[in-house]
Amino acid sequence: TPAANPVDFPTLDLRGRQLGPAELKAAMPRAETTFGVATGAVEAIIKDVRTRGFEALGELAARFDGVEQEHPRVPAAALDQALQSLDPAVRAGLEESISRARTFAAAQKPAGAAVEIAPGAVVRHKWVPVARVGLYVPGGLAVYPSSVVMNVVPAQAAGVPSLALASPPQKEFGGLPHPTILAAARLLGIDEVYAIGGAQAVAAFAYGIPAGEAGPALEPVDVVTGPGNVYVATAKRLVKSVVGIDAEAGTTEIAVLADDSAVPAFVAADLVSQAEHDPHAASVLITPSVRLADAVRGELAVQVAATKHADRVRQALAGPQSGVILVDDLDQGRQVCDAYAAEHLEIHTEDAAGMAERIRNAGAIFVGDYSPVSLGDYCAGSNHVLPTSGTATFASGLNVTTFLRAIQVVDYSREALREVGGHVVALSRAEDLPAHGNAVSVRFS
Ligand code: NAD
Repeated sequence: TPAANPVDFPTLDLRGRQLGPAELKAAMPRAETTFGVATGAVEAIIKDVRTRGFEALGELAARFDGVEQEHPRVPAAALDQALQSLDPAVRAGLEESISRARTFAAAQKPAGAAVEIAPGAVVRHKWVPVARVGLYVPGGLAVYPSSVVMNVVPAQAAGVPSLALASPPQKEFGGLPHPTILAAARLLGIDEVYAIGGAQAVAAFAYGIPAGEAGPALEPVDVVTGPGNVYVATAKRLVKSVVGIDAEAGTTEIAVLADDSAVPAFVAADLVSQAEHDPHAASVLITPSVRLADAVRGELAVQVAATKHADRVRQALAGPQSGVILVDDLDQGRQVCDAYAAEHLEIHTEDAAGMAERIRNAGAIFVGDYSPVSLGDYCAGSNHVLPTSGTATFASGLNVTTFLRAIQVVDYSREALREVGGHVVALSRAEDLPAHGNAVSVRFS
């Protein structure tokens, strides 16, 4: 019976506690496997890849992925072969996912602000895609062909001319990335694919690798994007001064804000579905209803016992990063959601859409009973590469603007400059930079 086999899912009781924003943030459940733990190992990997190039990649592929590798570039024939052998149902799923993601991505392209501030004084934004991107697709505990779609579609919609993709080599597939990942890349027209995993892939993209005995160069990129485990996320954080990155899309998280109107079986299924990604994944239920919390626990006992990756799910649900947070009411629940800043936030309350409007911090919000996170993982049209570990307070999920820069274009006529020139001169004096003022007055003397 469910009661005989309960799932360990800790409780944090915030009822009756008056916590300020900083205290609330500090009280949030977080994983112990933090960036601090991975930093030393990742720094060593980055240094090794920078100094020894393909040789280092070969050794790391042997150490972490158990494969022999001379050069990581995936041959074109392997991409073609993977697409030919792709299961038709999976192909149809990928095509639907691509089509929905493309529709949303096309709508995201910024119109470009252009303003005539005064007669003859034009300032505008010129949006320009970066020249080359490195897209990371995870493939450790699970393989993520869906992440190929999520990375590639917005980059293509932004107009990036050069796209390279990396995913860990898989022992059972002769050292190539998983064939479904190769097929997805081929379906999207990507031909530059590398069998490189983890921090070493991020390092190779950020710094590039010169041509050598092993084979042709891997050219450095301008932006590295994509999800991954703590090693990938840490590597992105460490190369951020050299290349652009998207958000730190690390180990996945779901928070569910729910009241008595929620369906316990739906809530439990969604908590389990994110826990199945990783033993360090976070599944958090925020609710003022003890009755609902108990009902969800009961459902978890039944559903976890029946799920394929039960061990991984149990570990994730029992971890310090997961559990129920009991709150006084939905308003405190909303404050907890903002303090936690979940990668994925589901809202199962009576006025779910109204609550979604009031939320300020989340990577993505899933509204109501029929918008589960797993829909967003594959086929909603939204992107599943989203900020984790509370970084949603300042970062956005992957989108078209991740691959664009807004260049400010200033175009003033003689008359327009003359009109504002006196102010430039006055401000330049105030900053004790008189040559600045002179650069204006010289044009009219
Ligand atoms: P992964 O590809 O991210 O990592 C596998 C690689 O990690 C290996 O190839 C190896 O190079 C490296 N690695 C493993 N152990 C290491 C060690 N001790 N030291 C240094 N490097 C090591 O695949 P994964 O592990 O399955 O993780 C995928 C992650 O991506 C999951 O945590 C999942 O939650 C997350 N994810 C996040 C999002 C998001 O948007 N935030 C989306 C999808 C997936």
